[in-house]
Amino acid sequence: MIEVPAGIDAGTQIPLTTISGARRGPVLALVAGNHGYEYPPVLALQKLRSGIDAAQLSGTVMMVHVANMPSFLGRTVYFSPVDGKNLNRVYPGRQDGTVSERIAFAITTQVIEKADYVLDLHCGDGNESLRPYVYQAITADGKMNSEISRLALGFGIDHILIDRNRPTDPARSLYCSTTAITRGKPALTIESGFLGRSDAESVEAIVAGVRGVLRELRMLEDGPAAVSRPVYLDPAEVVASPETGILYWHVERDQTVAKGALLAHITDFFGNRIAEVRSPLDGVVLYVVATPPITKGQPVACIAARATLS
Ligand SMILES: [Zn+2]
Repeated sequence: MIEVPAGIDAGTQIPLTTISGARRGPVLALVAGNHGYEYPPVLALQKLRSGIDAAQLSGTVMMVHVANMPSFLGRTVYFSPVDGKNLNRVYPGRQDGTVSERIAFAITTQVIEKADYVLDLHCGDGNESLRPYVYQAITADGKMNSEISRLALGFGIDHILIDRNRPTDPARSLYCSTTAITRGKPALTIESGFLGRSDAESVEAIVAGVRGVLRELRMLEDGPAAVSRPVYLDPAEVVASPETGILYWHVERDQTVAKGALLAHITDFFGNRIAEVRSPLDGVVLYVVATPPITKGQPVACIAARATLS
């Protein structure tokens, strides 16, 4: 257990497994549960913990089983029940901050800084109906970009979102994977799973993906093949809600939509229609919020277009 000491609020613990391989090799860190209502990553690491044979492993695998314990046990979407903060927006954290910031600080210093590669494992949060995809960050460094691309293809999920908008300042990295990248360590953010479920297919996609990356990094000899026909997505847009109220969604995850298509409408708490949310582009629904509560400014959906390769 990594201890997160009490500070201006109560402390917590972060369960960590380290598997040291029989041979030398890179250190791969796997982080589950930055968002506490996202269960397939947590369950995938339970399977991988017993499934990775140290005798066959070259290098080291670090597993953060539940990054955000207050949110996991408190069953909260996006935000910590203790400080109201989104853990995956406060990296690299602060030693003297609130509990989310202290968790981020502990993971930055005790996991990310000790790793060579980082996979931050997510899924659609408790309110999000999501089809699997991977965020492939684009940086100013060509070598870093090719390493990240190699990880993305190795993970095996064919929908790969080209992400050009991550922070570049290591002191204000905000996201777990960006904290790694701004410290020179190739990293991905993975999304597999939806709506607070823990279905076998979403879990297995993460187990297979990690095994694919272990093969790609030559940490294990065998593993699933890399993606042969990737679907690159660029651009993607997160559509924010224009109002607070009750959400009625009109599309499903993975549905193809045209620019201007009705994604959702919103009523006030008496049932009067107060807003519509339409697609800003032709693309695929990567996720759509599919539970009734909606707050102004929060995401309703993410729509991504297929990249036109030059
Ligand atoms: Zn998440």
